[in-house]
Amino acid sequence: MKKSSFLHKIHQGICKDTGGQNESAKLIVAVRVLTLSMIVYSLLNSILFLAVTHITGMVCCQLSVLLFLAIFILSYHHKTFVSFCTLNICILVWIICNIYLFGWNIGVQHFIITLMLFCFFAKYRHEAAKIIYSLTLCALRILLFFYCQNNEPIIHLTPEINNIFQILNTLAIFWAIALIAYIFSTDTQSLEGKLIEYNEQLKAQANIDPLTGLYNRRRTLEYLDTLLKSPVHPVSICICDIDFFKRVNDTYGHNIGDNVLKKLSETFHNELPSGTFTSRWGGEEFLLIFPDSNGDEANIALETLRRKIKSIVFDGGTNTFSISMTFGLIEYDFHSDLTALLKQADEKLYLGKANGRDQIVF
Ligand code: GH3
Ligand code: MG
Ligand code: MG
Repeated sequence: MKKSSFLHKIHQGICKDTGGQNESAKLIVAVRVLTLSMIVYSLLNSILFLAVTHITGMVCCQLSVLLFLAIFILSYHHKTFVSFCTLNICILVWIICNIYLFGWNIGVQHFIITLMLFCFFAKYRHEAAKIIYSLTLCALRILLFFYCQNNEPIIHLTPEINNIFQILNTLAIFWAIALIAYIFSTDTQSLEGKLIEYNEQLKAQANIDPLTGLYNRRRTLEYLDTLLKSPVHPVSICICDIDFFKRVNDTYGHNIGDNVLKKLSETFHNELPSGTFTSRWGGEEFLLIFPDSNGDEANIALETLRRKIKSIVFDGGTNTFSISMTFGLIEYDFHSDLTALLKQADEKLYLGKANGRDQIVF
């Protein structure tokens, strides 16, 4: 418990004040984590120098600790890009000083590759600047190589210590590269995930009627189009309409009318066979599609629905009321086009209205 709250505090500290306008939160996190890594790494080196009683080396490492500590603190007071540039310059200076003091064999020159990677991830766009910076880093590495060929290091380390530093530096560089790649790639992945989710939400919204949660007319036409292209089973289609719904609105208000529509959509879901496609065709009209039922089967299901709807008691505020619906049902004949089918169903609905409503016309 204690450990996790300690880690949580570190995480909070690193992520603090990362929400600046037009500033990348992940970049400042990467700057801070990398700076902290450099502090820990310099401390380790300092302990190593102490172990072999190399006082100059130890002092150099402690100066590095102070340098990176200063950058870490500054990252809370400056803009992200300033912190990023400061860290880059300091690591470059640190590399040059290390090579100047201890020579090529300790392997610090590989940190240059880390810097190149960091610059490519750090900023969105600015391609030219990234390429120029990378070329400069490459030139610097070659220059340092030739410098070391012609100059002896100021401080001579034994081959064993050189090897230990070579290994430590290799580990530190792999760590830094993995860290940068992790911070920036997880962000991209979560961003991609969010985009997929957002797209799905948009897609759902484009298909759904917001009041009732039923499919809308657009999605219904799309569905019918696909369904009727290759029907394997009998398909039945029903258009239904609330009887005298205008009266409900006029008597109880539009909000109560809306509640009726919502309750009806719930009833469709509960009463109709699973697999029935239920949609709001417009206003107080609904289109119900039975993708695997002939007319008789759909008729039976609709009769149950009709009775259920009549039995619902709605709260009108001052008193209660009930409603009825009229249904126009057809069975797909496997050759009529969609417009003709909908027209037939509509005609049946209006026949039902003319014959006294509250009925199924098949
Ligand atoms: P009929 O039995 O002939 O269908 O009569 P009706 O009153 O239901 O038909 P009419 O076409 O005269 O009126 C339909 C009413 O449906 C009018 C309109 O205000 C109402 N309506 C349409 N969409 C909505 C909605 O989203 N919410 C509410 N509350 N009412 C709606
Ligand atoms: Mg109506
Ligand atoms: Mg109507």
